[in-house]
Amino acid sequence: MLEFLRSDIVDLQAYTPHPGGAVTTPLDRLDTNESPYDLPPDLQEKLAWMYQNTIETNRYPDGSHAALKAAIAQYASESAGGMVSLDPSQISVGNGSDELIRSLLIATCLNSVCSILVATPTFSMYGILAQTLGIPITSVNRHPDNFAIHLGEAEYALEQNPLIRVVFVVHPNSPTANQLTSDEINWLRQLPSQLLVVIDEAYFEFSGETLLAELEEHPNWIILRTFSKAFRLAALRVGYAIAHPQLTLALEKIRLPYNLPAFSQGAALLALENRQELLSCISTIQQERDRLYQAFQNIPQLRVWPSDANFLYLRLEDHLASRYPYPQLIADLKAQGTLIRHTGGGLRITVGTPEENSRTLERLSALLQGQL
Ligand SMILES: *Cc1c(COP(=O)(O)O)cnc(C)c1O
Repeated sequence: MLEFLRSDIVDLQAYTPHPGGAVTTPLDRLDTNESPYDLPPDLQEKLAWMYQNTIETNRYPDGSHAALKAAIAQYASESAGGMVSLDPSQISVGNGSDELIRSLLIATCLNSVCSILVATPTFSMYGILAQTLGIPITSVNRHPDNFAIHLGEAEYALEQNPLIRVVFVVHPNSPTANQLTSDEINWLRQLPSQLLVVIDEAYFEFSGETLLAELEEHPNWIILRTFSKAFRLAALRVGYAIAHPQLTLALEKIRLPYNLPAFSQGAALLALENRQELLSCISTIQQERDRLYQAFQNIPQLRVWPSDANFLYLRLEDHLASRYPYPQLIADLKAQGTLIRHTGGGLRITVGTPEENSRTLERLSALLQGQL
């Protein structure tokens, strides 16, 4: 049946988003790295007002994203500590940064014989989107102690496979939560200019680290950011790319003409205008992250890694993982009301509200105590 479908698409394992929407049983949803905090009521009211008074639902949205690009250029320039002054022509806005990743793949590797390089474990969408476009993926390992990219393997892969045209890195990485080391950054700096380097800074607001200041020296670099995490707008799907104007122009050609709904554009603008208020909960999330990290370190069945993001990466001690498989642990936790993610051979747990985090600790410790 449906023989017209590409067989690689039929065989493809899709990304499994969580069901979303209103939940009937209360669950601590700590599996997708969202902010635990919805918009404050005054901003929700402003959004409602905007919807009623400024949005013409019968009209197409602004397909140029002009106002939003200008505001993003200003915020992003600021975020590099005043070291850069970005022009709106260096910004491209997507329906989530997922759209930008797909546009980049279309702009580079589709219809031609080239491939992408990733270091696993990493964000799964690079591989999934590449597969949907029939683009081959070369995957190298990370060092098991700190999850830095195995640069020797990466160099070897580039030598062996001259068809690699795009390198994806995440700063800090998901699911392992580590930011790029200076060795990794030096390696990126010396990559030949015919390679596109995608630096995904989805968690920038939590790490405070950005490579934006070096963008001008490296026209083959592109930085991706999103409103889905620290800016608390996951429901509205807004991501952006920062790059040389000729590179953003390619993204602009590829995207759908009205890729971003008017409401999403207005909400992202409002979020930027109120960024001080919105980003003020970051210090709480960082403190909670550090509290969780310390507490997990005291659970002997667990190994936890330091985090520069709003989530923690953990693994069960080897002897335990065979007796108590991850899917079972995830299911047991879910039955108690905590949703986390099994990915990259370990557990990724989003930092939630203090109450959620305390429940995570209690539930996880109790389950593991039974397994000693
Ligand atoms: C969450 C996340 C994104 C954001 O995706 P959106 O499509 O903007 O919601 C991008 N990259 C990484 C590594 C992420 O974890």
